Amino acid sequence: MRLSRYFLPVLKETPADAQIVSHRLMLRAGMIRQQAAGIYSWLPLGYRVLRRIEEVVHQEQARAGHIAMLMPTLQPADLWRESGRYDDYGEEMLRITDRHKRDLLYGPTNEEMITDIFRTHVGSYRDLPLTLYHIQWKFRDEIRPRFGVMRGREFLMKDGYNFDLDREAALHAYNRHMVAYLRTYERMGLTAIPMRADSGPIGGDDTHEFLVLASTGESEVYYDAAVTDLKLGVRQVDYDDRAEVAAICSEFTSLYARTDETHDEAAFTKVPEDRRRSGRGIEVGQIFYFGTKYSEPMGATVVTPQGNRVPVHMGSHGIGVSRLAGAIIEASHDERGIIWPEGVTPFPVGIVNLKQGDAATDAACAELYSGLQGKELEPLYDDREERAGGKFATMDLIGLPWRITVGPRGLAKGMVELTCRRTGESEEMTPAAAVDRVAAIYAPG
Ligand code: ATP
Ligand code: MG
Repeated sequence: MRLSRYFLPVLKETPADAQIVSHRLMLRAGMIRQQAAGIYSWLPLGYRVLRRIEEVVHQEQARAGHIAMLMPTLQPADLWRESGRYDDYGEEMLRITDRHKRDLLYGPTNEEMITDIFRTHVGSYRDLPLTLYHIQWKFRDEIRPRFGVMRGREFLMKDGYNFDLDREAALHAYNRHMVAYLRTYERMGLTAIPMRADSGPIGGDDTHEFLVLASTGESEVYYDAAVTDLKLGVRQVDYDDRAEVAAICSEFTSLYARTDETHDEAAFTKVPEDRRRSGRGIEVGQIFYFGTKYSEPMGATVVTPQGNRVPVHMGSHGIGVSRLAGAIIEASHDERGIIWPEGVTPFPVGIVNLKQGDAATDAACAELYSGLQGKELEPLYDDREERAGGKFATMDLIGLPWRITVGPRGLAKGMVELTCRRTGESEEMTPAAAVDRVAAIYAPG
């Protein structure tokens, strides 16, 4: 992408009403525009990040054997009357009436709808286990939308629903989601700690929230410092192996880590004193096991191998896709701007032409551009007529992890410069070597 032809409305001034750094940087970098309280347009750069986050979510769900689909944003109120939640959900639910005076609502979550789909099409234990998910916009009429996309009213969520024959199978699905989520967050450069939590309006007995530690987080958290060292890494996981998946979950949940809702001071004091921490965290996901809470009232049953008809065991599992864009920035920025982790960056690399219009620099940039494209890497090429300082400031603000700088002085020796946004370290190399280096950084695995 040539920056001269792109739409990147960066702001010179720091927006005064944005309270936290991710919100300020998303506005300054031209990623989002607020259209109403808690409702945003995703401008091209922000949209690319959102798509990258979705991609990682999809890939890790597929790896765990979960199946993607898409349900609508608008739902009939009648489904929610069946579960009893139409009245219970309260003012956060946006209620709509159509021209035929039928009650609709903008979905805040999809337990009822997915249970309806299940009961219509599935009736036997032979069709289990089954986990369906989608990534779709949700609406919750939050009383205080704030912090940009972190607490929106309209927000993008991945929500998945498992259907299993019994409690043990459903707990395996729960564990599978925990491991898949851990990997998802790690690929986004985040340490997200599973913490035992409270189930709220979703209901159920087992639930963990995933929290990214950040001083601007809205949740109060208490944890054993050793939990922040745990890494899933690249280990191979057989998601069908119940024992293996359960063992990973206990590795990640044995150390003390809780939100204020479930915090237990007596248990906390058993953590060695020098490892006891309290702080704040951003909730980027939550998993629930709730058994037959929806399947029973809504009649979602299956026939067992013994020929009995029983309500199916379920859980639901959410990732805050749009909130993650903000959370990643909270976790990864400096005074000059965003620092995208490679896993979600809107462009893998930027090219800065220091002397636009100079035949040799233009040609070297063009060669880099096509070389990178040939390796399926789409660079953002700053080909504007602007001073070097302005170009560097833009690249630093939008936070691409790598930058290739091309100028007449380096080219006289046949060299360009590859710079790491995170460390600021630069290295001179030939354009061909720069292409290879960037390709190696992004090579899968
Ligand atoms: P919170 O406690 O932050 O209000 P929640 O527990 O009500 O969130 P869940 O029902 O667990 O939310 O939804 C799954 C995920 O969706 C959350 O972990 C969070 O990352 C994201 N999410 C929830 N509400 C919002 C919102 N208003 N704006 C952006 N993301 C949200
Ligand atoms: Mg939650």
